[in-house]
Amino acid sequence: MKPVLLIHGGAGARKLTREKRADVLRSLEFILRDAYSALARGESALSAVKRAVVLLEDDPLYNAGKGSKIQSDGKIRLSASIMDGKRRRFAGCVNVEGVKNPIRLAHALLGKSDRVLSGEGAKRMARELGLPFASALTPHQLAQFRAKKSGKSGTVGAVAIDRDGRLAAATSTGGRGLEYPFRVSDSPTAAGNFANGACAVSATGVGEQIVEFAAASAICTLVEAGFTLEKALSKVFQGARKADAQFGVIGVDRRGGMIHSTLTPSLIWASATHNGLNFFR
Ligand code: ASP
Repeated sequence: MKPVLLIHGGAGARKLTREKRADVLRSLEFILRDAYSALARGESALSAVKRAVVLLEDDPLYNAGKGSKIQSDGKIRLSASIMDGKRRRFAGCVNVEGVKNPIRLAHALLGKSDRVLSGEGAKRMARELGLPFASALTPHQLAQFRAKKSGKSGTVGAVAIDRDGRLAAATSTGGRGLEYPFRVSDSPTAAGNFANGACAVSATGVGEQIVEFAAASAICTLVEAGFTLEKALSKVFQGARKADAQFGVIGVDRRGGMIHSTLTPSLIWASATHNGLNFFR
């Protein structure tokens, strides 16, 4: 199997400025090259999506990890999840404070019996695991918070298939900004991040709507039932469009077929295959 990696930096309400777009393209290329070369060397899809999302979290350009948005009580709370399609195993952390890379915590939870932890419990587990802690606050997000600018979007994600045909998905978010404290987004749920033996999907956009359409799990379940990835996407988007839902997805199927599609004005995405790299316009 030829490996495929697809990453996203969130769905948005407007197109990026030229300057921001140039910064984002540089960052996406760096991240893709790093994570795809590991995948091409034989690393598993699960490790590759974790690796890509760690780098996305570390880059303050995106609303995940460093650079995350601030909830209405002035606190930054991070959520992330990861799913191993082959083992059909999901793990995540919800509204955790201070953990540098929530996706590392989600990945570590894959090996536990209690696999989705929230708040203080998630933080305690991160400490027990010896994971690094760091402030996610940036001057930009502080200024946005003070100006009461929330925005509807953010989030990063990655989906991949490896040499052995195993699929995985990972998603991480700083939320919507100015939301009610401890609001739970779609990102640490199967609606926002899902993989099985047939498909892997990461979603971004209005979390409540992603949950209402169970977007990522619905697409993967349809593909598992025999629909093509495109058909599965169009079925889910058909209903979502009628409800005027605002979200987007990236996905990869067991043949290496890809989708990157959104109901919002923009979606930041990039892909890597043996044929080279491709980027959003
Ligand atoms: N889905 C995230 C949330 O609802 C935000 C986003 O992806 O834009 O918090």
